[in-house]
Amino acid sequence: MSVITSTWVERDGLLRSPLLERYHVTAGFTTRTQGSMGGSVFSLDEQDRNRLALARGLGFETVARVRQVHGNTVVHLDRAVEPWPEGDAMWTDRTGVLLGIAAADCVPILLVDPSSGRIGAAHAGWQGTRLRVAQALVRALVGAGSRASGIVASIGPSIGPCCYTVDAERAELVGASGQGAHLRQRPDGATVFDLWTANVAQLRDLGVESIEVSRICTQSGGHDLWSYRGRDPDGRYGTQLGFIGRRG
Ligand SMILES: [Zn+2]
Repeated sequence: MSVITSTWVERDGLLRSPLLERYHVTAGFTTRTQGSMGGSVFSLDEQDRNRLALARGLGFETVARVRQVHGNTVVHLDRAVEPWPEGDAMWTDRTGVLLGIAAADCVPILLVDPSSGRIGAAHAGWQGTRLRVAQALVRALVGAGSRASGIVASIGPSIGPCCYTVDAERAELVGASGQGAHLRQRPDGATVFDLWTANVAQLRDLGVESIEVSRICTQSGGHDLWSYRGRDPDGRYGTQLGFIGRRG
């Protein structure tokens, strides 16, 4: 089992995963440079245009999305469809489909099974992590014929254990899900939920062997990222997109 720590790099204003790109996929995370990609703060038209520009810039027609609800439903997408189906993970075995997960602290989890070409993406905030959406996505790929041990996974930029404190109620729900090992007490008394180690453990428990953690925190990792927790004093924040696709 290998857990590779951050190999992510910034290129053309985008954060990229060289590990995933080694397997002939286009994979990464947007920054403020490309503008907001989702959520309810910026205008929907503007975000549509930003997603379209991103897709075209990467050599795709559009971005395939799901309507994220902090659950663990996995959707199989052969192409982008409207209206977006409800779910927090999606996968495809088609080329030319760019999967996009909106996140501004929640964890984007990007997967590729190099032997079949199947790719997947999941959205795991504290709720999705509690509900094990990453495992639901791996099971969907395995159900389609992938071997878990052949899947390569990357945990993208998201709020890190440096910043992600939870209240007692959330901590109790996390503990009840069997993931209390990923809760830690800080010296100041606050409880931290480590979304990165929790999702690594979920992937590892299903047999995924090659896992990379970007270790880029959206709240403390730099001003070129939006963070819901670290939103501007005026309360506005944008939403990035974690993306993965195989060009045809
Ligand atoms: Zn941080």
